[in-house]
Amino acid sequence: MITEEIHRITAQLPEGVRLVAVSKYHPSEAIREAYAAGQRVFGESHAQELQRKHTELVDLEVEWHFIGHLQTNKVKYIAPYVSLIHAADSHRLLTEINRQALRAGRTIRCLLQLHVAEEETKFGFTPDEALAYIDSGEWQQLTAIELAGAMAMATNTDDTSRIREDFRRARCFFEQARLRLSNPAFNELSMGMSDDWHIAIDEGATLIRIGTQIFGHRQYATF
Ligand SMILES: *Cc1c(COP(=O)(O)O)cnc(C)c1O
Repeated sequence: MITEEIHRITAQLPEGVRLVAVSKYHPSEAIREAYAAGQRVFGESHAQELQRKHTELVDLEVEWHFIGHLQTNKVKYIAPYVSLIHAADSHRLLTEINRQALRAGRTIRCLLQLHVAEEETKFGFTPDEALAYIDSGEWQQLTAIELAGAMAMATNTDDTSRIREDFRRARCFFEQARLRLSNPAFNELSMGMSDDWHIAIDEGATLIRIGTQIFGHRQYATF
């Protein structure tokens, strides 16, 4: 089933859109199965779980993405190997990622997490805050960070017009930020999950993050 889902989804991706297979709460064997089907990019949202899987799967050439909320004291667990951090939600977090990237002798690509959904959350920049952050130039002192784009989650609703509206606001920020930065490395827009990825692609996503549709329901008791 994992193999079929990977093939079914990737066959539908337009050029320029990549699949992040969200393997959180699923065992390393499930990742091996997806890898055997050709999938290379995997997303995790708990630092210690990612660290364990990175060790268990060190024989594979996985491109690891961290997609969830990242606490500053956990950055050290993933900095040596993570390829992309999707949810950079504050200058404070970016500063710590920069510090750990320097220690590991690498540059870490990060996406600014946008808050565009209806739900209240303490995480993420509103599009206006994210533009102000870009204009502030504060991030420029973080030499081991590369701002690589933006990430967003839509409102958790069946109302597809609301979901589309959220993704449009993220896309609008992304285009404005690209004009201001004129940096070709700022090129990823991460949005869309199992229930809304078709809409996200319509609205300009370059990375979609799919878990349940590939791996089934998460086994929360396992970890
Ligand atoms: C878990 C998670 C996903 C995947 O969600 P599914 O509905 O299982 O596809 C995507 N993005 C983030 C940030 C997540 O935490």
